[in-house]
Amino acid sequence: MPKTRFQALAESRNREHVNINETGKRSDLFGKNVFNEDKMLQFLTEEALDKVKSAIFQGTKIDRKIADQVAEGMKAWALSMGATHYTHWFQPLTGATAEKHDAFFDILPNGRAMEKFGGAQLVQQEPDASSFPSGGIRNTFEARGYTAWDPTSPAFVYKTTLCIPTIFVAYTGEALDNKAPLLRALHAVDQAATSVAQYFDKNVRKVHATLGWEQEYFLIDKSLANSRLDLSVTGRTLVGSFSAKGQQLDDHYFGVIPPRVLGFMSELERECTKLGIPVKTRHNEVAPNQFELAPVFEEANLSVDHNLLLMDVMEEIADKYNFSVLFHEKPFSGINGSGKHNNWSLGTDTGVNLLSPGSTPMKNLQFLTFFVNTIKAVDTYEELLRASIASASNDHRLGANEAPPPIISIFIGQQLSEVLDELEGVSKGKLSPQEKTELKLNVVGKIPEILLDNTDRNRTSPFAFTGNKFEMRGVGAKMNCSKPMTMLNTIVAKQLTDFKKEVDALIDKKSLKKDEAVFNVLREYIKTSKRIRFEGDGYGIEWQEEARRRKLSYNKNTPEALQVITSKQSLELFKQMDVMNEVELKAHKEVELGAYIFHIQIEGRVLGEMVYNHIIPAAVKYQNLLLENIHGLKEVYGAAHKKVADGQLNILEQIGEHIIEIKKLTDEMADARRRANGMSVVDKKAQAYCNNVKPYFDKIREHSDKLEKLIADEFWPFTKYREMLFFK
Ligand code: ADP
Ligand code: MG
Repeated sequence: MPKTRFQALAESRNREHVNINETGKRSDLFGKNVFNEDKMLQFLTEEALDKVKSAIFQGTKIDRKIADQVAEGMKAWALSMGATHYTHWFQPLTGATAEKHDAFFDILPNGRAMEKFGGAQLVQQEPDASSFPSGGIRNTFEARGYTAWDPTSPAFVYKTTLCIPTIFVAYTGEALDNKAPLLRALHAVDQAATSVAQYFDKNVRKVHATLGWEQEYFLIDKSLANSRLDLSVTGRTLVGSFSAKGQQLDDHYFGVIPPRVLGFMSELERECTKLGIPVKTRHNEVAPNQFELAPVFEEANLSVDHNLLLMDVMEEIADKYNFSVLFHEKPFSGINGSGKHNNWSLGTDTGVNLLSPGSTPMKNLQFLTFFVNTIKAVDTYEELLRASIASASNDHRLGANEAPPPIISIFIGQQLSEVLDELEGVSKGKLSPQEKTELKLNVVGKIPEILLDNTDRNRTSPFAFTGNKFEMRGVGAKMNCSKPMTMLNTIVAKQLTDFKKEVDALIDKKSLKKDEAVFNVLREYIKTSKRIRFEGDGYGIEWQEEARRRKLSYNKNTPEALQVITSKQSLELFKQMDVMNEVELKAHKEVELGAYIFHIQIEGRVLGEMVYNHIIPAAVKYQNLLLENIHGLKEVYGAAHKKVADGQLNILEQIGEHIIEIKKLTDEMADARRRANGMSVVDKKAQAYCNNVKPYFDKIREHSDKLEKLIADEFWPFTKYREMLFFK
């Protein structure tokens, strides 16, 4: 039985004061629970260490003999850390992480007990995973799925379990998870970017994508959050009248962090530090009770794992401090939602950030090359990028309250726009010596200086260049970053592959010098990708109309946005880049659509329950109180009571009207759900949920929120916005 609003309020007021007692340096804790190079030096043979390192850096395979040695070392280390179990830690398509724990403990044939863990257990496991979504790839008659060790993300001990990051694939090879496609995309971008980077530096052998996410979240007192059926089941409030004080004052942003929150953050950060997650920044966000945590960026695959791990750890520690942590993209209507900006760049094994301008014209030409190619990639595949951030919960956030709109555009700032404008005028074919000098001195050469005072920052652009990286801002707070990162790295890989071909052709066939060829190709890209560049804030009808004129896609909701995943162009792209085949793309899309349907279905059911079991009964109770009062007045005043009870009668009537309406709408919504459930084609069903069921949510909410304002406070069943959002 969930707590009532008043029990929950009483509990939330009696929380103990939290003292923060952090001692010692964070750097001493860093990576304490990770099987990193330090631990490998101690626990692995030299041969095994070399093989693991070359698997990490060169992508070579680890044979069985070495796997046995690594497993032996890992086990010894994990036992020394107090671990009793091990698990293959993986990312099924549900978006969360999954694990199945096995004990090291085993009984030998001679009856004696010992701790066992060998190469076989390290390298491959077969989780009983029949209930993970697979979009039809793995049905019971076909091959089953298995998890396979990803040595590029180090194993770690969390509590008493050794966690081994793994991919999850079908025996036929198709990805059943989000990590396998990401690894393939990272491989594709490495190959494509390395060969382009070699135009500028022959020593580059490897390029890795980097990711630094910024995780936004809300903290709500646990009792208060649990007292609300909608929050605890769906992660967001389906009803709730907006409090008199909202975020208008902007007094929460970068304000003083309340002690209880600071206690939580401090323990969370220590735990993360031990797990090797390089957390660095914490601050209040714009909305009340909203916060942000950001790490130092890392190689993208590792960074994705760290974000997933962070979310798990956060939930546990929040619980300890009597908080519920909300990752939903829009838990409260009327105030900001939560996103997860994905800062992205490309770095070489020679230590160069390819999206950072350098000190020489050649280095700046390299910067421009990667900069313009990224713009071109996003221009060509903007709709796919939009699809990669589509989800039922993110639909509420995109385009509202300081969040980027669902139309993808790129912000690069005025100074870089001017540079691109200049480059558009570069001559075709060979360049005169004067033109080259002019370009080097006055255009390319000036980039580092102009970027230093590149201060005009746009906070709502979906894809913004911020000095030495691009920032993808539409990613939802709850999402697995694998999806947008797979997409972005795949499209950039494809673009760089095409670029290399074009430049090489100009060098071979037109005998242009390398830099001339680069300038020539970039000039064309700048011209043809102009529509994607937009410096405004992306709100309002003007931009929507302008975007239509520019033929940019504008997919408002998830069922629409996901369609492009299986377009002819997408199938070709993913096939050519060897990231996903047709079966996988179709399956992944189907899983996403299924998740969407499920999500809206649950919200609809919960809302129905709230209306029938809580809202209408509360309204009726208050009506009875009013009726009792009106009866009393009638006894005293007789016919004149109508005048005396005018206010009460009016409220009584208003409540009556809302009850009629809210009941009618709730019944209609249930009918719409039934009709949608009868559909067998998943696309159609998702559209029906989106277009025929979901629109009822806001209509129902409107009546509920009016009732909340009309009904005596003591009768209202749900913890109110102001009670949840303004604690100290
Ligand atoms: P903000 O965007 O909030 O002003 P910063 O510019 O300091 O903050 O960086 C935000 C995030 O960008 C951090 O997580 C940081 O690690 C990340 N970041 C910085 N450089 C890179 C890079 N080269 N590649 C990927 N992420 C980066
Ligand atoms: Mg930022």
